[in-house]
Amino acid sequence: MDIVQTGLWGFGDGPLIIAGPCSAESEDQLLKTAIALKETGRVHLFRAGLWKPRSRPASFTGEGFRALEWLRRVKTETGLPVTVEVASPEHATAALEAGIDAVWLGARTVSNPFSVDAITSALQGTDIPVLVKNPLSPDLELWIGAIERVYSAGITKIAAVHRGFTPYDRSRYRNLPKWELAIELRSRIPSLPVICDPSHMSGRADLVPEMAHKAFDMNMAGLMIEVHIDPAH
Ligand code: PEP
Ligand code: MN
Repeated sequence: MDIVQTGLWGFGDGPLIIAGPCSAESEDQLLKTAIALKETGRVHLFRAGLWKPRSRPASFTGEGFRALEWLRRVKTETGLPVTVEVASPEHATAALEAGIDAVWLGARTVSNPFSVDAITSALQGTDIPVLVKNPLSPDLELWIGAIERVYSAGITKIAAVHRGFTPYDRSRYRNLPKWELAIELRSRIPSLPVICDPSHMSGRADLVPEMAHKAFDMNMAGLMIEVHIDPAH
């Protein structure tokens, strides 16, 4: 695969730092968060989830399509490029129309090849960067398969996001790191940037720095970190 390295995507040099809330909750929350992140001078890309993949349907499922407009405001007011998770072709089309700068495929989506095919068809012919999270299970072939599907749609700006794997026993982590899978992925596709998502891996704010350090010790290509302006609530 001839994958374009992150440093060339126009988001800045060095490790790619993506930060933002798990979910878009309001325009005000997004703007306040993005302004604070911009002030750090260290964030290349602002993230927010608009469509949340919840296990149970009664949970908050995200603000949806209307929040694309909020992200557009974030972009114009802070100059930070923005990225969202797309889980259907409709999300992908709407994200492209709204001028979103990069999209990511979530762990649940990557677990389903039909979903990946449907989304990549909607992205075909564009050069939007696509971040591919690992699937829920520690199945490297499934992760690579999703990356191949994205690449087959003509997309060359691809990065993998290592967010850990569902544990089946009690664990210190919300998702088991299984660092060896990220190492194996890098040796299988050497041109592929692999970014670490310590937030979903740990599920706990106090473990994020330790895991972020580990990712940099491993020379990972960047971080995707969840932040909130009022985490206690
Ligand atoms: C997220 O990024 O908020 C998210 C739902 O991630 P994942 O697909 O890794 O669970
Ligand atoms: Mn999240």
